[in-house]
Amino acid sequence: MRYISTRGQAPALNFEDVLLAGLATDGGLYVPENLPRFTQEEIASWAGLPYHELAFRVMRPFVTGSIPDADFKKILEETYGVFAHSSVAPLRQLNGNEWVLELFHGPTLAFKDFALQLLGRLLDYVLEKRGERVVIVGATSGDTGSAAIEGCKHCENVDIFILHPHNRVSEVQRRQMTTIFGENIHNIAIEGNFDDCQEMVKNSFADQSFLKGTRLVAVNSINWARIMAQIVYYFHAALQLGGPARSVSFSVPTGNFGDIFAGYLARNMGLPINQLIVATNRNDILHRFMSGNQYVKETLHATLSPSMDIMVSSNFERLLFDLHGRNGAAIAGLMDSFKQGGGFSVEQERWTEARKLFDSLAVDDAQTCETIAEVYEQTGEVLDPHTAIGVKAARECRRSLDIPMVILGTAHPVKFPDAVEKAGVGKALELPAHLSDLFERDERCTVLPNDLKAVQAFVSQHGNRGKPL
Ligand SMILES: *Cc1c(COP(=O)(O)O)cnc(C)c1O
Repeated sequence: MRYISTRGQAPALNFEDVLLAGLATDGGLYVPENLPRFTQEEIASWAGLPYHELAFRVMRPFVTGSIPDADFKKILEETYGVFAHSSVAPLRQLNGNEWVLELFHGPTLAFKDFALQLLGRLLDYVLEKRGERVVIVGATSGDTGSAAIEGCKHCENVDIFILHPHNRVSEVQRRQMTTIFGENIHNIAIEGNFDDCQEMVKNSFADQSFLKGTRLVAVNSINWARIMAQIVYYFHAALQLGGPARSVSFSVPTGNFGDIFAGYLARNMGLPINQLIVATNRNDILHRFMSGNQYVKETLHATLSPSMDIMVSSNFERLLFDLHGRNGAAIAGLMDSFKQGGGFSVEQERWTEARKLFDSLAVDDAQTCETIAEVYEQTGEVLDPHTAIGVKAARECRRSLDIPMVILGTAHPVKFPDAVEKAGVGKALELPAHLSDLFERDERCTVLPNDLKAVQAFVSQHGNRGKPL
């Protein structure tokens, strides 16, 4: 499988190089040159397979030529073997024909484990083969950091540095990062906000001299391997609900357009999906595009669903590329005007096409709390605020009660106690067994000033399993 850039100017790469690439050299994102397409008979024959076996069949075409089947199978069995539920991604029924796909049974209790557990193993496999080491520098406002650290903690060939804003992540989120020890794991608390952290990561990609030749790898959702891993659970859910003979709808809480883009790909690969609903919080650039053809940057609002607090959706470029007939020059132009003026609209027929593919809704904090309370009353289930946004959007946008509606359950509610408390749910939430002593564990973290040079000096001092690069 070959991968091409959404801006048309960077060289095509194979899977192995895409895994290590991050952004393409022309500033674009990598996408498969040709999407695999499965027949209905083929998809139907996968019913009842264990999750890792299904994952093998869905993802195999993407890694062909880079990873032999037997090795890929073994990696997938290990990856999904760490999940705490035997079904890996169980479906829980909320109402008649309304389901939550629980994607929070991984080590860090959010769906990001599906991709980052795999990414860590794939990186180590490829690096071992090449005899190379890499450094990861990532920024997090919460969920990505812990999932990336958990995914990379056993990697022999990776040193990982995660920057989080000092005193601005929740205690559960911080402890999920700082209580994992290893000579290749480095938590840095920056005396600044999340944007400061993200800016430092961007600047580190722009000038890598501090790395003395060691390669820098991205773990945010621009990395293709993360999207690829997320395609699988759409097939998994649909197969349990009568697919592919019957079509299924999905409502997806989204910020960076990563998870919902994976659903769009699943549909293009042959899975019958009826509705795909984009569910955002008050940071609603995606909803404003879908409902009014305005892709315009606005100020960032802090919400009760912090993992979706973004101003710009990085993966949206991948959809725009398809909407524009895969014309890289057109995308480079659009992204340029976005950079200059902070926004754009697309031609009418392209927008109409997008409207056929997606429904959307923006949900504010008050509605989020109302939905948590409502679902608790109806079912006794406590939803996390991100999942609640998905439920609200599903209920507002649903077109047919006969078609199963699946809401992606992106996090365990225990990660977001503030929202659950604000919703007035009295039920005490307990940490799952593997995290029950989280609050007693020792923490390890370095506080650094909001200064790029200080951070880069720290990375070059510790980037080789705690020793200098
Ligand atoms: C990251 C995250 C999201 C948003 O995912 P995208 O890939 O940006 O769409 C939603 N919910 C939770 C809990 C998350 O951690």
